[in-house]
Amino acid sequence: MSLRSFLEEKEIKKQTIHISEAVSPRFEVSSVMKRFDQNGPVLFFEKMKGYANKVAANVCGTRERLCVALSIEPENLYSRLVEAWKNPSKPKIAKSGSVKENIIEKPKLSKMPVLTHFKKDAAAYVTSAIVSAKSPDKTVENVSIHRLQVLDDAHFAIRLVPRHLFKLWNIAKEAGQDLDVTISIGLHPVVMLAATSSVAFGVSEYDVANALLKNKLRLIECEHVDALAPAEAEIVLEGRLSAKKEVVEGSLVDITGTYDVKRSQPVIEIVGMMHRDEYIYQALLPSGNEHKLLMGLPHEVKIWEAVANTVPKVKAVNLTRGGCGWLHAVVSIEKQKDGDAKNALTAIFGAHPSLKHAVVVDTDIDVYNMEEVEWAIATRFQANEDLIIIPNARGSTLDPSADQETGLTTKLGIDATRPLGKPKEKFEPAKIPCSKSIQKIIDKLENEIRKA
Ligand code: MN
Repeated sequence: MSLRSFLEEKEIKKQTIHISEAVSPRFEVSSVMKRFDQNGPVLFFEKMKGYANKVAANVCGTRERLCVALSIEPENLYSRLVEAWKNPSKPKIAKSGSVKENIIEKPKLSKMPVLTHFKKDAAAYVTSAIVSAKSPDKTVENVSIHRLQVLDDAHFAIRLVPRHLFKLWNIAKEAGQDLDVTISIGLHPVVMLAATSSVAFGVSEYDVANALLKNKLRLIECEHVDALAPAEAEIVLEGRLSAKKEVVEGSLVDITGTYDVKRSQPVIEIVGMMHRDEYIYQALLPSGNEHKLLMGLPHEVKIWEAVANTVPKVKAVNLTRGGCGWLHAVVSIEKQKDGDAKNALTAIFGAHPSLKHAVVVDTDIDVYNMEEVEWAIATRFQANEDLIIIPNARGSTLDPSADQETGLTTKLGIDATRPLGKPKEKFEPAKIPCSKSIQKIIDKLENEIRKA
């Protein structure tokens, strides 16, 4: 279960474009990634200017590909994730793994084709890595995705959001110790998706990945640090997260496609590296669809669970692309009583504290089709009755319009479901009868247009 085995799958090969021209990791790879971001193919860069290794990009760029990686049908995505969060299972520790084909002392980060993505980025940064660490007493393990700014050949600045790795770092700091970490790059999509899981502190995301992969994940111990890494990763960097040393990190682009604020963040010293023969470097475009999917999906699941506990039936949840996969939710419910949608809205905001705007629609509206959602707002919504405004709530500092110090923001909920007291037919889109013969003609025309 590796990046390579995934890229070799028949369905994925069909969705892969190979770029044979030599391109630079500075702006050139990211330009191509940006162009093919929307529901785009996997991109495989065969030749990098100035580097020996190849680059794979946009690997987890669509919901469909994540479902292929999980070997499930799209309608089972949320339930499959919830099942794995609730039933994590310990992976095997292997004696050897392909990542140990090459073991390097004192590696040079400048030899890796790390991308510089956007014009004003402070530096090149690694965006597709999972970082794993154990508590000093070895009872707690955590795996999460962090951006890593290249400082020089042996150091990264790491962005630590105050969550689980931040907590482990603080425990190590109190003990006066640096924290051993592994930084793994070039992974099976399920390992990356598991690393963004919404599980409690103390639950290892490796165990979630292993549950999702039906116990096929293998981990290995490292040469220089006490932390585990996937045995089939393309690259594992072994590092020490400093208890003392911090630098100004950024500015760098985050999920909104705007620059995150500069902050003092800790430094990781790289003390060793393991990699497969002719390793593939994995790139992930900040603010790209892949970033939104990996970061947003676990929160869609939490919203889905919360709404399911509040109203009789929830059909679908979409943290929309336009809303950065993070700040806007559209949720469709089967409304039984007036007021259900407002209860759903309160559940939605409770389930995802960073959320800013939410729209609840009826189940005849496709939550992935924003024109349909807008149509529901246009024809089923009255602002004086169907709007909830929550001022001065905690939101996300990633939103440049929120207070950048406190994250305070105004939340807005829209009930765009049809009022039950009024005749249903008034709110239904008019239909045109379509015979089989005319449907055939339409299908043929569609094909012609697609080919043109
Ligand atoms: Mn965690």
